[in-house]
Amino acid sequence: MMNIKGMRRHPYSRSRIQPIAFAIAVPGKFVRYREMFDLTLSFDNGPEPEATPAVLDILARRSLHSSFFVIGEKLATPQGRTLAARAHAEGHWIGNHSWSHSLPLGLCVEADVAETEIGRTQALIGALSQPSPLFRPFGGGGNLDRRLLSPAAVEYLMQKKFTCVLWNAIPRDWNDPDGWIERALGQCREQSWTLMVLHDVPSGAMRHLDRFLDRIGEMDGRLRQDFPPDCLPIVDGIIVQPIESYVMHADRA
Ligand SMILES: [Zn+2]
Repeated sequence: MMNIKGMRRHPYSRSRIQPIAFAIAVPGKFVRYREMFDLTLSFDNGPEPEATPAVLDILARRSLHSSFFVIGEKLATPQGRTLAARAHAEGHWIGNHSWSHSLPLGLCVEADVAETEIGRTQALIGALSQPSPLFRPFGGGGNLDRRLLSPAAVEYLMQKKFTCVLWNAIPRDWNDPDGWIERALGQCREQSWTLMVLHDVPSGAMRHLDRFLDRIGEMDGRLRQDFPPDCLPIVDGIIVQPIESYVMHADRA
């Protein structure tokens, strides 16, 4: 069941762009190399009336599209619903980030937790969903480890044909609202394609989103909406990347 069944092309990971290093020759002096990079933005833990509208305004002004991984409990409020609908209408992808965001699924023992945390949220997302629904597990502070998923959760994601979206950059905007930008820029420089987790919550961090995007532009970073294949262990319900390091088995808990 959990074998790798082979890579497939998929709209969420259209192509991999390798870093392009190019040289600017300065006559008689030196050669400067620049690394170009790609950046996919994602916003987790909303929607929040005090944070999401400003993020949407900034992205709209710049004609940028991203993904919003919403928490079911917040989507269940009228304001949350309105904000998610606006994000969807403006071209962003709406993903599922669990109902309660309280415990990583790998640490949950209840038999029906996949349905109550993933299924219930997905039902609420409804027509705002992508064709292959997007699920991002709660990492309990950004941990990419076996706490992310349980065997039952993986089974559920496969059955319901989810695409599981992880990340490769987490600049911890929520606990460093004024200092996350430099860390985030460093993470972009380190790899050819960054999938960054930011948070549309009222931490104050998103006050700096505009400035962050200015800096990305100055560095020739390219914003895109699709996801790096390495961050997608499950695509359309099929395991396409090694997943065992993200799955907690009861006998190893
Ligand atoms: Zn989260």
